[in-house]
Amino acid sequence: MSEKNFTTRALNVPYPKKDPHNALQIPIYESVAFEFETAEDIAANFRGELPAHVYSRTGNPTVEYFEHKLKALTGGHTVLAVSSGMAAISNAILTLCDAGDNILSGKNLFGHTYALFQQTLPAFGIETRLADLNNIHELEKLIDDKTRILYFETVTNPQLEIPNIDALASIAKKHQLVLMADSTLTPPLVFKAKKFGIDLEVMSTTKFISGGATAVGGAIIDYGTFPWERIPKLQPFSGKLRKDVFYGRLKRNIFRNFGACMTAHSAYFQILGLDILELRLEKCVNNCFKLAEYLEQHPKVKEVNYPSLKSSMSYLHAMKYFSHKPGAIMTFDLESEEACFRFMNKLKIIRRATNLNDNKTLIIHPWSTIYVEFTPEQRAEMEIRPTMMRLSVGIEGVEDLMDDIAQALS
Ligand SMILES: *Cc1c(COP(=O)(O)O)cnc(C)c1O
Repeated sequence: MSEKNFTTRALNVPYPKKDPHNALQIPIYESVAFEFETAEDIAANFRGELPAHVYSRTGNPTVEYFEHKLKALTGGHTVLAVSSGMAAISNAILTLCDAGDNILSGKNLFGHTYALFQQTLPAFGIETRLADLNNIHELEKLIDDKTRILYFETVTNPQLEIPNIDALASIAKKHQLVLMADSTLTPPLVFKAKKFGIDLEVMSTTKFISGGATAVGGAIIDYGTFPWERIPKLQPFSGKLRKDVFYGRLKRNIFRNFGACMTAHSAYFQILGLDILELRLEKCVNNCFKLAEYLEQHPKVKEVNYPSLKSSMSYLHAMKYFSHKPGAIMTFDLESEEACFRFMNKLKIIRRATNLNDNKTLIIHPWSTIYVEFTPEQRAEMEIRPTMMRLSVGIEGVEDLMDDIAQALS
């Protein structure tokens, strides 16, 4: 039998335990602690012989159900939900790297990931080497015997570059690096991470998955493909934990002690979001494509970038890796910064805000906001132009969005 549809699967993941009231939607278990029948039971639990929830920083039934759903939908070997996308990235890296180790990554990164790499991790003795992901030769030159991770984002923002993931996977394999992808902009429905050789997937579930900007969250998915005993930090534990050594050390050594847990309440929102992800994403992507086509032929628009457009340099990779659904973020340019501001101020439906993949369509002028701390030269190097705006396309009627854009451009 062929694999069932994404939404069918999302709606039919069984609960970890049967609900005593047969609740059809998972309850929100807002309880910090969970009790045991006997002293022997609680002792057995602490010896690791009786699995059960104990304390909600280390595990919670609602959060666990969200993890089960993501596992079923991605084919992951293990899934850990955490408090945010940044918690996913930092927890995963700290599980793998000791002081003295280094990470190889693309230059165009989500802003706070860039700050984590450049400002936070060096204090732990972990170095990040940033390179152009399209320049395989340059990348390979930066690898040494202390390099542990090859890190990339599936679609960079706002450049909307999609790297050659096959090439990255083969370098990672050749040099025994963990191939780690941030797939926030292309959720599991469109990006089959395991198929393309990703060992470790991290994502902010705040964006597409929560949908409607209801809750901050993140997830770490181990596809069970990397021989973890090759990572020095994991090696001493790999005899006992074997295939689960990454997950085991992540939970016991990093996640539990840093405490960036997801709450039951946000897990509930993530679950509702995941259930209707397919409906929302299809609509967002279709809307985005139609708006990109519309803007591309508009005489006042100088440039449009959306990877599904034939004119985009990422077109072939958008087709290959995301079956033409490379998220719902696009950028476009008007003649000047003043024209951008005038346009943005005239919009009536599209909102001026910085989030991504909300149900609502959002617009921002990256040059004067997200990247304002950087010098004009640095911004130019990151392909941020004063004439460019970023549009995160939502689920409104596309005609209404087009009308809004048309009146604001007139
Ligand atoms: C938003 C975002 C993050 C950070 O996620 P938070 O949930 O805000 O911590 C990381 N990577 C990418 C690509 C993002 O868009």
